[in-house]
Amino acid sequence: EKVVFTFGGGGAEGDRSMKQLLGGKGANLAEMSSIGLPVPAGFTISTEACHYYSSHGGIWPRNLKQSVKDGIHFIEEKMGTRFGDSEHPLLISVRSGAAVSMPGMMDTVLNLGLNDYTVEALMRHTNNERFAYDSYRRFIDMFGCVVMGISHEKFEHALEDLKETQGVEHDTELDTESLKELVDRYKAVYRKATGYMFPDDPYEQLEKAVNAVFESWDSDRAVKYRRINHITGLLGTGVNVQAMVYGNMGDDCATGVCFTRNPSTGENRFYGEFLLNAQGEDVVAGIRTPQDIKALQNVMPDPYRELVGIGKKLEKHYGNMQDIEFTIQKGTLYILQTRNGKRTGHAAIRIASDMVAEGLVEKRHAVKSLVEPGHLDQLLHPQIDQKNSNGNAVIGQGLPASPGAAVGKVVFTSEEAEQAVIDGTPVILVRIETSPEDVGGMSAAEGILTSRGGMTSHAAVVARGWGKPCVAGCGDIIINYENNTFTNGEITIHEGEWISIDGARGTVYQGKKDVVKPELDEDYHTFMTWVDEIRKMRVRTNADTPEDSKRALEFGAEGIGLCRTEHMFFGEERIKAIRKMIVSNSLEERKEALEKLLPYQKKDFTEIFRVMKGFPVTIRLLDPPLHEFLPDEPEEIKKVAGELGIRHSEFAEKVRLLREFNPMLGHRGCRLGISYPEITEMQTRAILGAAIELKKEKIKVIPEIMVPLIGTPQEFRSQKLVINNTAADLFEETGESVEYKVGTMIEIPRAALVADQIARDAEFFSFGTNDLTQMTFGYSRDDAAKFLGEYIKEGILQQDPFQVLDTEGVGQLIEMGTRLGRETKPELKVGICGEHGGEPSSVSFCYEHGLDYVSCSPFRVPVARLAAAQATL
Ligand code: ADP
Ligand code: MG
Ligand code: MG
Repeated sequence: EKVVFTFGGGGAEGDRSMKQLLGGKGANLAEMSSIGLPVPAGFTISTEACHYYSSHGGIWPRNLKQSVKDGIHFIEEKMGTRFGDSEHPLLISVRSGAAVSMPGMMDTVLNLGLNDYTVEALMRHTNNERFAYDSYRRFIDMFGCVVMGISHEKFEHALEDLKETQGVEHDTELDTESLKELVDRYKAVYRKATGYMFPDDPYEQLEKAVNAVFESWDSDRAVKYRRINHITGLLGTGVNVQAMVYGNMGDDCATGVCFTRNPSTGENRFYGEFLLNAQGEDVVAGIRTPQDIKALQNVMPDPYRELVGIGKKLEKHYGNMQDIEFTIQKGTLYILQTRNGKRTGHAAIRIASDMVAEGLVEKRHAVKSLVEPGHLDQLLHPQIDQKNSNGNAVIGQGLPASPGAAVGKVVFTSEEAEQAVIDGTPVILVRIETSPEDVGGMSAAEGILTSRGGMTSHAAVVARGWGKPCVAGCGDIIINYENNTFTNGEITIHEGEWISIDGARGTVYQGKKDVVKPELDEDYHTFMTWVDEIRKMRVRTNADTPEDSKRALEFGAEGIGLCRTEHMFFGEERIKAIRKMIVSNSLEERKEALEKLLPYQKKDFTEIFRVMKGFPVTIRLLDPPLHEFLPDEPEEIKKVAGELGIRHSEFAEKVRLLREFNPMLGHRGCRLGISYPEITEMQTRAILGAAIELKKEKIKVIPEIMVPLIGTPQEFRSQKLVINNTAADLFEETGESVEYKVGTMIEIPRAALVADQIARDAEFFSFGTNDLTQMTFGYSRDDAAKFLGEYIKEGILQQDPFQVLDTEGVGQLIEMGTRLGRETKPELKVGICGEHGGEPSSVSFCYEHGLDYVSCSPFRVPVARLAAAQATL
């Protein structure tokens, strides 16, 4: 099997479609080379080779060694240099790259091939002694850290020492002699840390580096990143070996990162940062603060123009905004990487609508590829309330690295951030800069604040990808890890104090700011009309109040998939009435109490129906165990007994009797309606009574009455009978009638198994995937947090099944329930109303299995609409 794929010199063995095999970086390097862009020659070792290595205990596939040699010869030929040569040495970079981009997850080694001989040759050949030794010391440092796992601080320490004795501030100020000295010190560091001499055979260097890339695939931080981002099903990483080009040969050299459009705002303007006389990761690592790409236009107009042109070409070629890495060596431009640029939700929408308007892409492409469901979620994120200043002092101004407002207590380490989340405390992670080791804490924190680094620093890139608010490079503050404080010189903030950050503006405030929901603009609405043109599955919402229903309508909901009636029983008068009902000793008393609730329920339904303007509304009958309506503190019990006018001891006894060991599996759902049909009667009267009211207002509603927690067809039939009888009575009494439907929730596994029988009587099904997940796994929804974290960490579960539908298990029940139900009743309407209704991969599953709609909370409605549209593409 072919394990090495070359690229360069206007051709390539791979192309952009080969991401799974070559990784994203390798596939795009090949693609760029084929379309004639200036990409230094190189080759990619396949992800299959990585997979072989990790599954065979660190052994290379049989043909890899020879293929790598051939690959090196290919580069030598293209470049006119030779690996390890003492005249014209070839230096290479060794870079990782998997099918899914994982920023900063796997490290790059630059300048590989240097040793005491080749460095001299490089010096003679380039006539630049300083450059040669600068490259050499970088190589030893990188090789030591990345390949041998030596802590970077050890090298940093040696460098700081030397800078101090030389009395200089920046690396660039070190003269050649000092750099030579530094090389010796670095080698000593290497030897001390590893017990070996620094390897001077280039092929040995290469083999070790390739292995390090292979191994980095299974490193803790890479595994963690994949876990947090739910990246599964990949073979491994590709390894890209590529001829070096030098951005550090002098002031006619540079290295940088650019975006074809602004990744924060989406504005169609070339955007980016660069450093003169620098190499590789200097820009990303935030070692020196880079310059705006605009400045490059003045310093190097020709390469700048070429770069902008290439940006345009790539954007058109890929049909997407690009994130490009480049290096300029002595005025010549080289492209080292391109990928679809990460962007904010706001930018994604703007770019999608602009690119369609500019004729660069079709609407379908824009919906499929330019906006992710998560982007929409981000758009609906809270923002700092600008109108309400609250008098919070501004502590600092940094870069607006990732929008959204975050309010939390200050922590300085990732561990603390992770702990705080377990304790339920919102925190802001404050770091000088972040590194991949911090991803756990960054994910846990509400927001991130760094004092160093640019818009493409690790913190900024990762935060934007996650839609997490981030202010980066806030140089106004000085962070002191020793005292756990930071200060701007006037105000000192201690660990545990509240701050607020505005990631859209880069502002940091002392204390807690007010936060508001953002406005949705024209571009958003245009984009969503495209989404709806493409979408085939309906999206409803879960709402129990007129306000929520209204908001959901604004977000594009096409009905209510779940209206939970129990929420309507809270509030002073109502709770009293339901408590009266619960403590009643006779049917008469119970009916009397329910009589009091009827007008409230009817009014609620009337308002919701009115807001929903004829869209379908599914109302679930009372579901929770009655105990939930009663107090449990002794003090409260006493007080409530007084309010209800019954003896304290009698009431306390009632409360005690109603207590259950497993309330979620107890006296709830249709079981209540079967024990107390008068509850079902009252609710039916309220629902249909409301519909009759609206009929008078000329609004047609067809209420869908949903019986919860059915496990047998008999349970359903018994409730349906109560509903139908009540309806008949009501219609006779009022002389009016309305259409209505009676259906059920499928949330007990047994119901899915006998769905064909249930469908004989039920007019619709709605999968209640929260309970269905709980009962299928046997995990208590209310207690699972205790062990789910560990399960996911250990890889026992890939994801939290309460967030992402378990398609393998629970999904099978959905598939079966739908199929069996429709065997009995082909026109059966089927939907889903659990939390999963707003989770993109679950939405896609529902579409594939022929569900008519998904229903989710109002704020998730736009996300579900987009996910449903994407499922069809
Ligand atoms: P990442 O995935 O973290 O972006 P890369 O593999 O792209 O890592 O490498 C990091 C940096 O190293 C790049 O931004 C680029 O500037 C530099 N680099 C990689 N290969 C070369 C090369 N052949 N010549 C010069 N610089 C390189
Ligand atoms: Mg890297
Ligand atoms: Mg890169």
